[in-house]
Amino acid sequence: MFPEAIQNLINQLSKLPDLGPRAASRLTFYLINQEQKDLDNLSSLIRNLKTKIHLCSQCFNITGKDNRLCSICQEPKRDKETICLVENVLNIIPLEKTKQYQGLYHVLGGLISPTDGLGPENLKIKELTARIKNSQPAIKEVIFALSPTTEGDTTLLYIERLLKPLNIKTTRLGRGLSMGSDLEYIDENTLSNALLGRR
Ligand SMILES: [Zn+2]
Repeated sequence: MFPEAIQNLINQLSKLPDLGPRAASRLTFYLINQEQKDLDNLSSLIRNLKTKIHLCSQCFNITGKDNRLCSICQEPKRDKETICLVENVLNIIPLEKTKQYQGLYHVLGGLISPTDGLGPENLKIKELTARIKNSQPAIKEVIFALSPTTEGDTTLLYIERLLKPLNIKTTRLGRGLSMGSDLEYIDENTLSNALLGRR
């Protein structure tokens, strides 16, 4: 129906999460009406995306290629004795927005899920125990901010058992999070309360 240049872009955009063919078509026609320089800028940002970033060597958050540590790990005022465990980088954003948390993070890069072929060895769990053992100052508390799902609970229990001999206080987010909900979509107030009510 459309020239190949348009149809190919629609097909490509349709593969993006949350974008069906209709939204992909609308987006494509929106782009057609933009200035060439803006399109050049957008395509160069996409082209360079993966070459300009890497993972923080301490917490595995995403950071610029030139930084060993991410902006959170670099902040001198943060509480370096508390680590909040999250499944992925996107989970950090709502926790930061609550402004209730001043500690550091550790991004696991997924949750234990045998059905998806994801075992503990695929996550940054070894890195977590090594980090805790070598941390100066010593880590006093690890907060599990994982989604209350079967995978989240399996991961929590596995890591909790692993940390037991290290004698560190472990807490999990408090009430208010309904079973099965994904942390990414929880509003700030609920998350803020869950953080304050951790147990
Ligand atoms: Zn970091």
